[in-house]
Order: sequence, then structure tokens, then C-alpha cells
Amino acid sequence: MISTKQSEQSRISAGTKVKLKNYPTDSSDTDVAKELGEDAVKEMAANALLESRLHLDAVQNLLYASDTYSVLLIFQAMDAAGKDGTIRHVMSGVNPQGCQVFSFKKPSVEELDHNFLWRYMKALPERGRIGIFNRSYYEDVLVVKVHPEWLGPGQPTNPGKKFWARRYEDINNFEKHLTRNGTLVIKFFLHLSKKEQKKRFLERLTNPDKHWKFSDADLAEREHWDDYQKAFEEALTATSTERAPWYVIPADHKDVARAMVAEIIVKSIQDLKLEYPKLSTDQLGNLEIARAKLEKKQKSAAAATPQAPET
Ligand code: AMP
Ligand code: MG
Repeated sequence: MISTKQSEQSRISAGTKVKLKNYPTDSSDTDVAKELGEDAVKEMAANALLESRLHLDAVQNLLYASDTYSVLLIFQAMDAAGKDGTIRHVMSGVNPQGCQVFSFKKPSVEELDHNFLWRYMKALPERGRIGIFNRSYYEDVLVVKVHPEWLGPGQPTNPGKKFWARRYEDINNFEKHLTRNGTLVIKFFLHLSKKEQKKRFLERLTNPDKHWKFSDADLAEREHWDDYQKAFEEALTATSTERAPWYVIPADHKDVARAMVAEIIVKSIQDLKLEYPKLSTDQLGNLEIARAKLEKKQKSAAAATPQAPET
């Protein structure tokens, strides 16, 4: 497969001090990709994605049938990194009854009146299902770290290191609780270059079909690019754990990013080694009784059905 090695390398091991410049944004910047050429890489990525989607549908079915685990997928990124497109492409083909997507925007007054994890707790996936967080509680150590004035009432106006350290600790404890209680947590940071973000913003301004995606706020946030990168580095460093790993996905090329994400999800669920529920001898016996009853009924129904007259 195109990306297995890249996918593995994108996982941050616990204890790593993350420097984002050490992680590629451009997946085509490797010897293999250069040798293959852009078109071939695109095609391989598209095929890999198709294959993973089939596997994903199958593992989701197994997840539901085995009724033991739930899966929480977290997507975080700078604007225009492709969160929505990745979610759409990776999850299309999965039984809609088996997954739920929640997109978190600026918190409401009611949400700000609760502890910062409250609104996310309410949206957690049920056993047997895949829950997708398009943005998440990580915003509460990212966007508000860049703009502490958005923290809301009752919060410090000038939060220091200790405040953020406590939030990271809360997040780690929350994820510990989730993973201990049967939720597989997988976190993706779609890592986009500043140059590619500019290209995508310009395309939103140029292409009438993409005008709706443009927001002045995105441009304003781009001014804080370095602060966001720093906030991401600190969050990834503090919350990369074995139980709930972060993957830094090079996002400048959408096809490869999507293929990598899909592959990581499939592999992580497969690693749970789920099995369809096995029936006991008694239960199997009951199935045989039910079969016999059904067949007997069918036979007597067939005997009672009037035959069409011969012509
Ligand atoms: P979008 O996903 O492009 O629709 O934008 C959602 C907006 O909500 C972004 O500007 C986020 O930064 C913002 N947002 C999401 N979560 C929070 C949060 N916990 N606190 C403040 N702003 C947030
Ligand atoms: Mg936006």
C-alpha cells in the first residue's frame, strides 16, 4: 500500500517534544514519491482510499456486532487544511447508522456556563459506533490559547502556564477514562503549510463555487499563524499518549492525506481484534428449532396456495 510507512511515521510517540517543522506537510517530498511522479502517487492514493473504505465498512459492522468498543476520531487543523473533505471522503461508504459527526463551533453561552469538557462528553459515541469530532476539546487549548479573551466568564483574563498545564492534564485524564471504558481514541492533526493555506484561500476567492467557504475570520486567524503552530506543538507534546495517539498527517496533498487517515483508522480498529459474537450450543440449538419451524410453515403455506389453472 502507498502509505503504510508514512502512516506509521506520522504517529507521535508519548514523551516526544513536538517541533512541527520536523514533520512534513508535503507528502510528495520523498524519494519514492518523486520517482513515481505526481500522477502515479495520486492514483495510488485514490486506490488505497477505495480499498480502505471497503475495509472500514467491514470493521464498522464488526464494531457494531461485537458491541464492546466505540471509536472516537478527532480532527484538528489550521483553516483550509481539509478536515471536512477528509471526513467526507474517508467515511463515505460506511453505514450512516454506524457513525456520527459533530462539528464544534464557538461555544454557546450555555456551553460556557459548564466545564470545558461538558459539550464534548454529551457527543461521545455509543458502544458499537464511530464518533467523529470535527474540532474538539483541543480547541480549548488551541484557539483560546491564542485568544485567551475568548475563554468566557469565570476564567482568568491572563491565564498562565499552570492554567494550560491543568487543561492538558484534564484532557489526558478524560482520554484515560474513555480508553479504560472501551473507547478507542485516534487523533489527527492535518498539517498544512502556510503556503498551501494561501493557495487554498485564494482558490476560495477565485472559484465562485468555493466563495461560500471564504471567511474574513479565517484571514484574521492566518495573521496568528505562528501562535497557532506553537499552541499545536504544545498541545501535541502534552497530550501524545500511547492510549490516545496523535497522528500528524501531511495535508498539502489531499489525496495522500485522506488515504493515510483511512488506513490508520482501519488498522487501529483491526488491532482491537474484534470478533462476531459466538453463540453457545444452546443458542445454536434454538436457531435450528427456529429454522425447522420456518421451513415447516413455508411447506404448509405452499401446499395451501391454489395452483394456477393449466392452459
Ligand atoms: P468552522 O469549523 O470553520 O466552521 O469554524 C468554527 C469556529 O469555531 C472556528 O473559528 C473555531 O476556532 C471556533 N471554535 C471551535 N471551538 C471553539 C472553542 N472551544 N472556543 C472558541 N472558539 C472555538
Ligand atoms: Mg472555517
